[in-house]
Order: sequence, then C-alpha cells, then structure tokens
Amino acid sequence: MPGPLSIAIIGAGMGGLATAAALRRVGIDVTVYEQATQFARLGAGIQIGCNAMKVLRRLGLEDRLRGGSFYPRSWNNRDWSTGEVKFDMIFGESAEEKFGAPYLLAHRGDLHAALASAVPDECIRLGHRLTGLDQITDGSVRLVFANGATATADAVVAADGVHSVVRDMLFATAPVKFTGRIAYRTTYPATLLGGERIDDCTKWWGEDRHIVIYYVKPDRSELYFVTSQPEPDFRIESWSAKGDVGELRKSFEGFHPQVGQVLAACPDVHKWAIMDRDALPRWAEGNVTLLGDACHPMTPYMAQGAAMAIEDGAVLSRCLDGAERDGVADAFRRFEATRKERTTRVQETSRANTWLRGRTNADWVYGYDAWTVPLAA
Ligand code: FAD
Repeated sequence: MPGPLSIAIIGAGMGGLATAAALRRVGIDVTVYEQATQFARLGAGIQIGCNAMKVLRRLGLEDRLRGGSFYPRSWNNRDWSTGEVKFDMIFGESAEEKFGAPYLLAHRGDLHAALASAVPDECIRLGHRLTGLDQITDGSVRLVFANGATATADAVVAADGVHSVVRDMLFATAPVKFTGRIAYRTTYPATLLGGERIDDCTKWWGEDRHIVIYYVKPDRSELYFVTSQPEPDFRIESWSAKGDVGELRKSFEGFHPQVGQVLAACPDVHKWAIMDRDALPRWAEGNVTLLGDACHPMTPYMAQGAAMAIEDGAVLSRCLDGAERDGVADAFRRFEATRKERTTRVQETSRANTWLRGRTNADWVYGYDAWTVPLAA
C-alpha cells in the first residue's frame, strides 16, 4: 500500500491555507512553505462572500468568523455627491437563507488567523522562499528554497500570489499589468470618528474613483476603507507601502460628508498599485498546479479574489480525493476544467468595475457551492 499522497503548498496566504485545510480533510499529507518569517496582521478589511463562507464552514471556521466579524444588513451603493442610493444589495438573514451562508465583513488578519488555525503548526514552514522546482522522472517534485533547504513531494500546489514564481518557472507568461490605478486603504478604531454615525457598508461611486467603507468588528469598533483612483505613475504593489493622508483627502474633496468624516479621522494610510492579468491558457504542468491569485489575479472591485482562492481549495480537494501520485496530473486538469470558466468570469466582471452599481443579479457569485458543484469530466 502506498502512503498518503504528499503535497507541498507554496504560500500560506488565503488560498494556500484554505487548500491545506481542505486537502487534510481527504487524508493528504500537506506541507505549506511560506517565505515570510512570521504572519503579520495587515491593516485591511476583507469581505467574505456567502460562497467563501460555505467553504469556510466545512473547514470548521464558521463560529469563529461569525464571532469576530461584522454582519452587514447590506452592501449599499451610493452616489459620491448626492448620496442617492444606486443599488442596495441586501445581505443579512434573507441572503443567508437564499445563498446558504452569511456574508461577513472581517479584518483580513482575523480571516488569515482563522485559516491558520485550521492547519497544524507542524505542517507550516515559515522562512521558506521557493527558488527552484524540478519535476523528476519518478513523478515526484523537488523543491529548493532560498535558505538552502530542499524538499520532495508527490505534487506541488503553487498558491504564491499575484507575482507567482512558480508560474514564471512553468510558463512564459507576460508580467502582470498595472491598471494605472491605485488603492488607498487602512483600518482604524471607530472611536476616532468622535461619535459620528456612518453607514455600515457603502461603496461611494464617483466619476473616475470610488471608496468602499465598512466596519470589520461585530460591535462596530473598527472600520476599514479602500479606494480606487487613477495614478499612472505609482507602481509599488506592497501591503506595507505608505500613502499620504493629505493627498488622499484632497483626492476625495467634494464627496459626500460621510466620506469626508471618515477621511478626516483617518490617522494614516497604505497605498497599493492595482494589478490585473488576463486569464492564463493553462494552470498546470504535470504534478504542479497554480491556485488563487497565482493563476487568476483580479482587481478588487467585486471583493472576490480571496473567495476564488478559497473555493479553489475546496474543489481541488474533491479532485484529489483518493488520487495516487500517477493520477495527480489528471486531477489537476480536472480542477482547472472545473474552475476556469468561473474564475475568468469573475476576473472580467471585476475588471469592468460595475458590480452592484445598479440592479445586479448576484446569484451566480454568492449561490455557488464549491463542495457540491459538479466536477468537470
Ligand atoms: P496571497 O494571499 O497573496 O498569498 C500568497 C502567499 O505566498 C503570501 O503569503 C506570500 O508571502 C507567499 N509567497 C509568495 N512567493 C513565495 C515564494 N517564492 N515562496 C514561498 N512563499 C511565497 N478578496 C476578497 O475575497 N474579498 C475582499 O474584500 C478583497 N479585498 C481586497 C482589497 C485589496 C486592496 C486587494 C489588493 C485585494 C483584495 N482581495 C479581496 C483579493 C485577495 O486579497 C486576494 O485575491 C487573495 O489574497 C489571494 O490569495 P492567494 O492565497 O492566492 O495569494
């Protein structure tokens, strides 16, 4: 009897950790290699769509996430100056009933910590930046890391994000495209608003820019905002790059007073260049596959990038359930065939930046269940 399939996952981000937890459920021996030497609590919010929550529920994380996140009545969409409601996407109990799981607004660090809690510490190797990868003739894969360590596994799942080195090793892909737009973002304590009431979750639509503002804690004690606006000369894409609050405030002058209040109270801010990429022709080569942003990065305008990576993990675990080493390449092809149409549609819809700006049928996004969707033949 061969032992359990061993899979090396590159990257302990949202997709890598969700995949590790999902693969362990079907008896796969998983090791996650992450370049960072420790997990940092990044100052950002994250919307956890009902579709992602269905996956997270089966990974045992629902109670923890409900307990630590904000449960919005809706995602409201309003005009930047008049405040007119363009479309109010109702969540809360009615959407939970309709889509089969809640829609939650979380601190990104809380979601990441929840995912990390679903993977035993001994399965995660921090401080391991992948630099080399070889598929050897016996069907296994050899990995080389910047710290001098090496490892072998039956297969590799590269969840190494938008600048995936594994993607570059496997395929001659064009670099990710800078969209010419940047995002300012931050989280801060709601006490800084000095008692001013703001909407729970609203996207304020301007002519060439927008700002999304929402709470990330159940008691409204912390809020988050993220913008999108043109700035063709700023190309730094890093969770730690700082922005200038004064410039930010200036670029949203004239917006509704609520936006002014939120920006006036904001102590500091991060700045991020927004990247995009067309769908890749292929995700896998032999016993190595890409997953998450590594193969389908997207603009953040639908708040679905992490949700897609998390769904990927669930579908991949179903494709690999019961597979042996010589069946892995087929399982990876099946994974790609099951997922690509959906992730491409989300990439393209997100790029258009019209999601929920007017009446929108969102059933195809939030109604999807990665645990039950038919697998491709
Ligand atoms: P990542 O989370 O980027 O993880 C990649 C990991 O791989 C990192 O930990 C990295 O350190 C590691 N790594 C990279 N290279 C190596 C290497 N060579 N060796 C070892 N490790 C390596 N999505 C949502 O669903 N909802 C939202 O509300 C939302 N809001 C967003 C707001 C902004 C401003 C942005 C930029 C994105 C947002 N997203 C949102 C998208 C989401 O953040 C990404 O789609 C998601 O993080 C992708 O997960 P991933 O695991 O593929 O990649």
